[in-house]
Amino acid sequence: MAPLLLDAGTGLREAGLRARHFTEQHLLLSHLHWDHIQGLPFYEPLFDPDFHLTIHTCHPWAEEALRTQMSEPFFPLSFDQLPARITVEVHEDQEMFEAGGFLVYVSKQCHPGDSFGYRICRGDRVVVFSTDAGRKDFGRCEKCKCPHLFAAADLLIYDAMLSEEEEKGAKRDWGHSSNVSAVRFGALCKVRQLALTHHSPKNDDAKLDAIYAETLALAEERRTAQKWPERVLEKIWMARDGLEITV
Ligand SMILES: [Zn+2]
Ligand SMILES: [Zn+2]
Repeated sequence: MAPLLLDAGTGLREAGLRARHFTEQHLLLSHLHWDHIQGLPFYEPLFDPDFHLTIHTCHPWAEEALRTQMSEPFFPLSFDQLPARITVEVHEDQEMFEAGGFLVYVSKQCHPGDSFGYRICRGDRVVVFSTDAGRKDFGRCEKCKCPHLFAAADLLIYDAMLSEEEEKGAKRDWGHSSNVSAVRFGALCKVRQLALTHHSPKNDDAKLDAIYAETLALAEERRTAQKWPERVLEKIWMARDGLEITV
């Protein structure tokens, strides 16, 4: 079974080098901002005529946007000239569908132009991919249903681009979140493992290490004060290239 692809940022190039032997694969797309699609033209399996990629999205104009991305003067080969077959499937918010052997539920999130989070299930395990999402009204927002999306996930991949100060202050409408809200909402939704992603490009490794230490300390403090069950946030990760997590 080919691994599911979650968004198509620059990491997709490396993933392509490891995916040469697959003939069919599914990609779940959160939204069409550049940092989430930039790797797609460089995904090596797209140059294999026997490969079929299905892209799942909730943006009805996604295929048109991807066709523009892969057209002159942005890229020498057009969408139709790529040897592989590419299919774009457009879903509704709150829809459940099957993708590559996984059961997937999709849910709208607060982000400029909307983004979509995915709850991915197989057997009794649940992984949630939720990036580019602001959560200032978590649980009370009429637009998004993030508590349903997160509930009791074995792994929640969570947007932590902002500091708590930015999330609550000047950048509260940017549609991004922080490590502090990750701990808060991860615990509230009884998530087992948490991986922070979408790190701010302005943060170097030392700053990311400091954010990680702060996150662990905060979780420990609240675990005691709020008497969390043992499985709640039992492990917290800083997502990075090549990281492997067992759920
Ligand atoms: Zn975005
Ligand atoms: Zn982004």
